[in-house]
Amino acid sequence: LRGVDFLKNRFTNKGTAFTLEERDHLGVTGLLPPAVESISDQIDRYWSQFNLLDQPINKYQLLRGLLDTNTTLYYALGLKYVKDILPIIYTPTVGEACQKYGALYQRDNGVYISSTYAGQIRSVLANTRKRAVDIIVVTDGSRILGLGDLGANGMGISIGKCSLYVLGGGISPSRVLPVMIDVGTNNESLKSDPLYLGNRISRVADEEFYAVMDEFMASVKDLWPEAVVQFEDFSNNHCFDMLTRYQEKYRCFNDDIQGTGAVVSAGFINAIALANLPPKDHRLLVFGAGSAAAGVVQAISDLSVSKFGITKEDVKKQVYLVDSQGLVSNNREGRLQKHKVQWARDDTPADKANALKSLWDVVQYVKPTALLGLGGVGPVFTEEIVKFMTTYCSRPIIFPLSNPSSKAEILPSDAYKWSNGKAIVASGSPFPDTTVNGKVYRPSQGNNMYIFPGVGLGCTIALPATIPQELLVVASKRLTDMVGSALESQQTLYPPINEIRNVSKNIAVAVIQECQRLGIATTKLPDSPQELMKLVDRRMYAPKYPDEAYYMKGKRKSALRSP
Ligand code: NAP
Ligand code: MN
Repeated sequence: LRGVDFLKNRFTNKGTAFTLEERDHLGVTGLLPPAVESISDQIDRYWSQFNLLDQPINKYQLLRGLLDTNTTLYYALGLKYVKDILPIIYTPTVGEACQKYGALYQRDNGVYISSTYAGQIRSVLANTRKRAVDIIVVTDGSRILGLGDLGANGMGISIGKCSLYVLGGGISPSRVLPVMIDVGTNNESLKSDPLYLGNRISRVADEEFYAVMDEFMASVKDLWPEAVVQFEDFSNNHCFDMLTRYQEKYRCFNDDIQGTGAVVSAGFINAIALANLPPKDHRLLVFGAGSAAAGVVQAISDLSVSKFGITKEDVKKQVYLVDSQGLVSNNREGRLQKHKVQWARDDTPADKANALKSLWDVVQYVKPTALLGLGGVGPVFTEEIVKFMTTYCSRPIIFPLSNPSSKAEILPSDAYKWSNGKAIVASGSPFPDTTVNGKVYRPSQGNNMYIFPGVGLGCTIALPATIPQELLVVASKRLTDMVGSALESQQTLYPPINEIRNVSKNIAVAVIQECQRLGIATTKLPDSPQELMKLVDRRMYAPKYPDEAYYMKGKRKSALRSP
């Protein structure tokens, strides 16, 4: 880089924070307004611009512009105002940003891999000129949040999740890489949208899809052997098979299955502690039986076995799944998809197997003590259902987890109102507090951000060749334990989101220790938890501009006379 390039490069730019000496040295004097500001002055300016905008989507655009021009300032602002900025760069606003990706597009960020690049994927990735990559978030846009197939617009979700790795996990911004695998889209209205930026073809057949993915995974490992690959928002005709195909070969995991599982199970175990009912007496009804639901019930099972010492078989008896055909039972008509088979009920009476269709039917049959929503279709947990639960259950657990907010199964405010404040609530998207009979209730947010940044960070430090399920179980166990005394006193299921850095640090340490225990860490690491904590701390990126020496290397570009 030279001179003006330092201003143009998003990672080296510091805008008005360039000192006069640096400006002189780089030959950019006069290209910036005369004032020299500190990063906190700059944060204040952006924060007031942020608050001038009414529409979340406009705030998103403001922040994206900043990310793409001054990355350091973007993260400094983000860390200072995490709670306000998260709903913009992540769910719910990121959903709208993906839907309008073509219309809102400003400039490059991340890598697009078209199916037509087959045979050259390695060299396309190498175009990034990145020497090191710690984290790759890759999607094919086939199931973005609960919004369906958004094709190449799915890039917005990869960019958002990469931001969360930096904000929450302290991964260096130049070492995260958002990737969009453009294998077409079956969303007809997108294909005919003049502003659409992806390939206007239908999704390719499985054989071609896996050829592209295989080449992508091999190229990543070859170019950046230290990278962790996070699969994100792949539709459920591929996401399970992809895990089977890659998880024992590469350092990868699926956040929708495993990350969601870890975060929801952590909150769920805490909810059980509040619910005045022994773990084995709960009946868990999950609305939706897709990738998230499969991950969640698996994780709840893993964590219950590890925490309560009950068996998998016991847990299985407590779980009921509902999909678009009704209660998932073995003796139901038609074939069950692979990921549903192991959780399908085998005790449904023959006359009920095909009769329990609606959620209300199933609720009456099961009498659930916990209701988890992962169906992605919007409000379905009705007043009737909530009131019914309160008739046999003192503290019903109600988790409307579908994103974005419009897809939530129930508004947390309704859950509190209809249960007279008894419900224990965690949502997928952020929701406001509610007052019932003069008492304030605050829903917890089961945000995947509690888990994946810490898991990614731990894995980039210990570098296990693969990411076994055990690493996610310890992550979720640590998350459960971090709530501590706030669980009873504030009825909160997760630590406050503004403590995310500390959460990630603890999870990273837990993950590293588990790698050591399993003998899969491949780097030299200290044994003591204190030393590990220090190591992790040192590895975490803090958004500060490089110091003067970084810019003052080499020959001086312009010599100004002193005024
Ligand atoms: P998915 O794999 O497509 O699964 C959706 C499931 O919902 C399928 O089992 C589907 O049934 C079922 N379903 C759809 N419509 C239904 C209806 N009317 N009645 C009953 N069941 C219905 O999607 P996913 O990846 O699991 O994601 C689902 C939702 O979870 C999304 O909204 C996503 O945003 C959310 N999510 C939240 C978090 C979080 O809060 N931390 C994390 C990840 C995902 P069939 O199987 O019969 O098609
Ligand atoms: Mn996702």
